[in-house]
Amino acid sequence: MDTQQNNVIVTGGAGYIGSHACKALHDKGYLPIVIDSLELGHEWAVQWGPLFSYHFPKNENEIRQVFQTYKPIGVMHFAAYSAVGESVANPLKYYENNIQSSLCLLKLMQEFDCKNFIFSSTCSIYGEAQYVPLDEMHPIQPVNPYGKSKRMVETILQDFSKTKKINYASLRYFNAAGANENQLIGEQHTPETHLIPLILMAAAGKKDCIKVFGTNYDTPDGTCIRDYIHVTDLAEAHVKALEYIIEKQENLELNLGIGKGYSVKEVIEIAKQVTQKNIPTLYSEKREGDPPVLVANPSLAKKILNWNPRYQDLETIILHAWQWMQKDISTFSKKEF
Ligand code: UDP
Repeated sequence: MDTQQNNVIVTGGAGYIGSHACKALHDKGYLPIVIDSLELGHEWAVQWGPLFSYHFPKNENEIRQVFQTYKPIGVMHFAAYSAVGESVANPLKYYENNIQSSLCLLKLMQEFDCKNFIFSSTCSIYGEAQYVPLDEMHPIQPVNPYGKSKRMVETILQDFSKTKKINYASLRYFNAAGANENQLIGEQHTPETHLIPLILMAAAGKKDCIKVFGTNYDTPDGTCIRDYIHVTDLAEAHVKALEYIIEKQENLELNLGIGKGYSVKEVIEIAKQVTQKNIPTLYSEKREGDPPVLVANPSLAKKILNWNPRYQDLETIILHAWQWMQKDISTFSKKEF
């Protein structure tokens, strides 16, 4: 099959990170073809290419037809369940969905001789940090089914790529945050579990308070430290990774973060400054499975991909998320392609 050089299949392209990747692809002249069940994603978030509302593996035949029609040069695979707590409560759901969807896609890529696969991985594959910042050499010991399911797919990719049928980039995200700077797309989860949108909901009066999960961690102020990366920067790294593996025909496993950690208390303080709102705060119990500190060493990604994240400060990341929260998404209309 001759590939169409600018067609890229994006699974989960109606979701938070996937939709930003579609925008980044579009900005670089690609056509993102979205496959998304819309169980968690949103039709309004698909603005830069066609949407096929299909499930893995149930709609394998229909998805085959999408490969046949568009002859993609590559696949970006975001579609997955990603809530750590839920994965502990319902591990089979995570193993079944996250692994089956990847296998289904890889088989179709083999069938259509589509060689370039970008995988949405996570810093959860490292488990408890033995040192920070975490580089790619850090031992891999995921501690929850979500992280384990992502690591299993990485293992499948390592084996499959040895057959020379694909090249892949596995991108291990730290904490994606923020929104498109022009409020075209942004974060919208139901239920919301992530820190920054929950803080902003408390600031906007849409929630009574923000609960701080744990105050006696071994960190300077006792609360967990995370590395928050702007979703636009994250999305751009995906396009760079795709172009890299196409050009070099090599695999990549890269950490994507900023390399700077903020505690939960610090995030709340910055959100107060950005929003100029009171943010009622309740100190509560630890959430199971939360490592105290996760901060990336992003040097390898920066060097290999020539990637320079634009938004290095948390103020801007929170400002963009806040501006997005003011947006009325009921006014968004469906785009036709
Ligand atoms: N967190 C919190 N209260 C909340 C949600 C999150 O204190 O309502 C903390 C959580 O314990 C973690 C950090 O905020 O230390 C980031 O959590 P999030 O769920 O946003 O991302 P994760 O790091 O779990 O992927």
